[in-house]
Amino acid sequence: MQFLLVGAGLSGAVIGRKLAEAGHRCRIIDARDHIGGNCHTRRDEETGVMMHVYGPHIFHTDDEEVWSYVNGFTEFLPFQNRVKTTARGAVYSLPINLLTINQFFGTTMRPDEARDFIADQADTSITDPQSFEEQALRFVGRDLYEAFFKGYTEKQWGCSPTELPASILKRLPVRFNYDDNYFFHRFQGMPRDGYTPMIEAILDHPGITVELNTPYRPEMREAADHVFWSGPLDGFFDYQLGRLGYRTLDFERFTYEGDYQGCAVMNYGDRDVPWTRITEHKHFSPWEDHEDSVCYREYSREAGPDDIPYYPIRLVREKALLEDYIALAETTEGVTFVGRLGTYRYLDMDVTIREALDTAATFLGCLAEGKPVRAFIKSPR
Ligand SMILES: Cc1cc2nc3c(=O)[nH]c(=O)nc-3n(C[C@H](O)[C@H](O)[C@H](O)COP(=O)(O)OP(=O)(O)OC[C@H]3O[C@@H](n4cnc5c(N)ncnc54)[C@H](O)[C@@H]3O)c2cc1C
Repeated sequence: MQFLLVGAGLSGAVIGRKLAEAGHRCRIIDARDHIGGNCHTRRDEETGVMMHVYGPHIFHTDDEEVWSYVNGFTEFLPFQNRVKTTARGAVYSLPINLLTINQFFGTTMRPDEARDFIADQADTSITDPQSFEEQALRFVGRDLYEAFFKGYTEKQWGCSPTELPASILKRLPVRFNYDDNYFFHRFQGMPRDGYTPMIEAILDHPGITVELNTPYRPEMREAADHVFWSGPLDGFFDYQLGRLGYRTLDFERFTYEGDYQGCAVMNYGDRDVPWTRITEHKHFSPWEDHEDSVCYREYSREAGPDDIPYYPIRLVREKALLEDYIALAETTEGVTFVGRLGTYRYLDMDVTIREALDTAATFLGCLAEGKPVRAFIKSPR
């Protein structure tokens, strides 16, 4: 059969590959002039540094099958994300760990002492936290909350943490040891030559054709037996019910002779610094050697119609609109909505790949059994 896949990011590439391996023909289109979606990487012409064009991407997973899948297409080198934050005129280690606590409070506590100390800081009068702020206060108390969460969250989400749901902070966000590896996952790494060659290798199959600079047009559906849509869910319907809210990012690029900040990611927790973080891309490829450096100052704001949608907002208004779009999608035949934009969720790369593999398998199963294919194989709820 002949399938149309809209979007040459991870979702489109992985689904297309599975369908092509099953003997089908896949036409993958992308409005952009490159493959890879938001994982796209390319060498900076001026400095030679490998750039994560749409913001830094670190691969981390506990899913052994996904880890072996990506390693089948490119070479991964070890990489652990160790983030720092500048707040109130000092630099601290993140996520909040024993070093952060001891530096912040000027103490030399051991793990058990720090655990008791933080328990004393916590606001125990809050028994049923209703917001992100209340949840943070209940976990870590006002001092740590104001230094490490409040300003950063206000900048990232453009609203007060009192307006965000408590569920954002599910667990105690503090470690009582000196572990500063940002992620807990067993497998962590970075593709040696960036993500684009990996996605190029996934797309390299005789059953796949890729067309860049090719925005979707409704008449393209006619030539396809089924469509996989990894663009914005509301975009498929021409935003007829309104726009699902997103945060977008502005990257202010600057170069520096030498090493600008000594680490890949430096957050800025203070409200009066307008950017949320600075990323220095050569530190994402520590096996390479570059004299010069290129950095992004990252600013977050509400996405307008012409901006790149980065983070789905998913607050009360958006969830209600999402339900309306789900209902509309479920009455639309011949299209399956996939990926982070198609299902309006934040998905890490490993989850995107897992879902894409499962989507292709479910779809092929439906074809084999002559069953109808649903609009959502992975629920957007
Ligand atoms: C700032 C940021 C940092 C991230 N960091 C990490 C990280 O460190 N680790 C991690 O695991 N994950 C990270 N992610 C998540 C990662 O980017 C996603 O998992 C991944 O990009 C999802 O792939 P996708 O194919 O679903 O979507 P996308 O990559 O968005 O691909 C969708 C593609 O569809 C195309 N498209 C859209 N509409 C149309 C249309 N109408 N016609 C034609 N083409 C269209 C777009 O141009 C795009 O190329 C991060 C995400 C963001 C936003």
